[in-house]
Amino acid sequence: MKKTFKIILLSFLLVMACAVGWVTYQFNTYKPKTITQTMNPENLAYFKETYVDCRKSFLDEAQKHKGLHKDIEISGIAVESSVDPDLSIDYCYIPAQQSFERLFILTSAVHGIEGYVGSAVQQMFLRELVKDINLNDMGLLIIHAVNPSGFKNYRRVSENNADLDRNCSTEDGLYLSENKGYNELNLFLNQRQKVSLTSFGNFFFPLNAIQKILKYSMGTLRQAILQGQYQHEKGVYYGGHKLEPSIIAVTPLIREISEKYKMIFSLDLHTGYGQNGTLHLFPSPLKDAKKKAEIENIFSGLRIDWGDTNDFYTVTGDFTSYLEQILPEKHYLTMTFEFGTLDTKTTMGSIKALHNVMLENQGVHYGYKTRKDETQVKSRFLESYYPSSDAWRSKVIEDSRQVLSQALEEYVKTTVEDQP
Ligand SMILES: [Zn+2]
Repeated sequence: MKKTFKIILLSFLLVMACAVGWVTYQFNTYKPKTITQTMNPENLAYFKETYVDCRKSFLDEAQKHKGLHKDIEISGIAVESSVDPDLSIDYCYIPAQQSFERLFILTSAVHGIEGYVGSAVQQMFLRELVKDINLNDMGLLIIHAVNPSGFKNYRRVSENNADLDRNCSTEDGLYLSENKGYNELNLFLNQRQKVSLTSFGNFFFPLNAIQKILKYSMGTLRQAILQGQYQHEKGVYYGGHKLEPSIIAVTPLIREISEKYKMIFSLDLHTGYGQNGTLHLFPSPLKDAKKKAEIENIFSGLRIDWGDTNDFYTVTGDFTSYLEQILPEKHYLTMTFEFGTLDTKTTMGSIKALHNVMLENQGVHYGYKTRKDETQVKSRFLESYYPSSDAWRSKVIEDSRQVLSQALEEYVKTTVEDQP
């Protein structure tokens, strides 16, 4: 009897050890699925490695439109900073050439580091698509680097550690709101010591994460972590304690230009969420059936992630909802493009993505144990939002070209009846 018990116990321990070994191995060697689509080298020309180069290329592309359209405006807005005097939100505004029916706003780098891809898409838009757009009744406002500090320093957040997509609101109540689910997870999410990739906790991170998934469920956990929080200023997904300088700087520009138009359609460019190399259409939840139908028409034939899948989450203080708040009298439509990188719809992919965000944040606030840790954490973080793969980059441009030209062809036909 004793012997049987021993065998069962040993088998159980062996199975457990194998499972732990398997999960840890999978996690530490994790790679998203490779992209099979053929690469077009011409698409790669849009990608640059520094904020300064992206900014220059964007402005160069914009300058090429000078003289082609009436009253074009190319300029920049300085962003207040305590450490960097050279942060600018640049823009190119091509007004509707005859009547001010509708405006299209294309923004990049609300999450700074995602601006490398956003900038590439904006450059492509200016170089390839604008010439075929009917500008009689439609204006274009292309805003480069909403968060120039994060863009320049390869961070998602601002220099105040604020996530601009959790920071935007016309009401201060947002900054007093409490995310109770996050508070419970604070110690798990935000370690307060130097980063060491070889530490026990980091090596076995997936086991800790899986234990949390079993305790709370994936959906609850995702919502609590990602929705935004306003209590832990050194924590991940911190939304700030007041409106960030970038948002304060860009608000009057958007208000003033939108003023003349009846209808606004804003599209915000992001990376990092979803399947590797896939363009996800990820709007804010929308109750208005008419607007929903209009968006579905603009992107007809394409899958829109309306929040009916179980990997869905909502955020507080997002940028595109804020634009709706500051333009209350306008017929406002919005969409977010998310170019997936780490297959975050899989459990392992989402754990990996979260770990990358946590380690980068921890490194910024508490430093790194070794130079090697620092290099690895930063390179993994960059790879999560700006993959080095040529196939990935080429596909982003290919998909954007196709989806943006279709969207604008449809948007130009969308009309809004005059308010009585
Ligand atoms: Zn983003």
